[in-house]
Amino acid sequence: MKLDSSISAVVTGGASGLGAATARRLAALGVKVSIFDINPGAGEALAREIGGLFCRVDVTRETEVDAGFELARRAHGQEAALINCAGTGNAIKTASRDRQTGTPQHFPLDAYERIIQINLIGTFRCIAKSAAGMLQREAGPDGERGAIVNTASVAASDGQVGQAAYSASKAGIVGMTLPIARDLMNDGIRVNTIQPGLFETPLLMTLPDAVRTSLGASVPFPKRLGHPDEFAALVESLLTNRYFNGESVRLDGAIRMAPR
Ligand code: NAD
Repeated sequence: MKLDSSISAVVTGGASGLGAATARRLAALGVKVSIFDINPGAGEALAREIGGLFCRVDVTRETEVDAGFELARRAHGQEAALINCAGTGNAIKTASRDRQTGTPQHFPLDAYERIIQINLIGTFRCIAKSAAGMLQREAGPDGERGAIVNTASVAASDGQVGQAAYSASKAGIVGMTLPIARDLMNDGIRVNTIQPGLFETPLLMTLPDAVRTSLGASVPFPKRLGHPDEFAALVESLLTNRYFNGESVRLDGAIRMAPR
């Protein structure tokens, strides 16, 4: 698809990090961008900066997602592209002993479920609702009606200690990419997933400098954290290259995560 002012896009998690870089890059190409996020402060500021729209949407809430798409479509028309970046993680061992008392404890199931709800089901909810809307778009070259890019993680295959929930949620995104592309193949909607390695986003910026430097040095090449705009550049490629479909691709400087 051609990225210009004739199309609009929805970016979930677009108020920060990888989603914000994506929103900025698409807007710079002229695309009308709607940001779905739970952080209105950062989301509204970015929407003002790029001339886009902010919608306060929690991707785990059906009614908020419906209202967000309605608002975005009223302002910009039916989106041709959806980029799912909303996500979060936690770090809890499956079973362990309490440090002070030695009492056995396990991963609380509500904390596990929350990550699956946000990262996996939230991503699927936005895909399903966006694709249903894209069915109404007039087909372009090759019959293309829309393109979707999801964000998984290298943790989908090399999850570290404490990442049982996060890795499961991201592996779920990788796993559903092909069947969703197949579901939508006769309607001209492509679906791809990016598996980022270690990127310099607010998530990692909370770590001390020394830890960030050593994380960067652990990347085979280039020996640094990824820049969010390098993620956005791959989103742009996946949206514009019509032959790219049903694939999950790592963007990680060849890193393979160690157990911890
Ligand atoms: P970030 O925290 O900077 O941005 C995530 C955004 O998602 C935030 O603006 C947050 O408010 C929003 N969000 C969280 N829960 C939400 C919900 N329920 N509904 C709507 N919005 C919600 O993090 P980031 O590093 O930019 O991460 C973006 C995505 O990339 C995440 O899915 C993350 O798992 C994935 N990822 C990041 C890295 C990395 O190194 N930064 C690596 C691998 C994967």
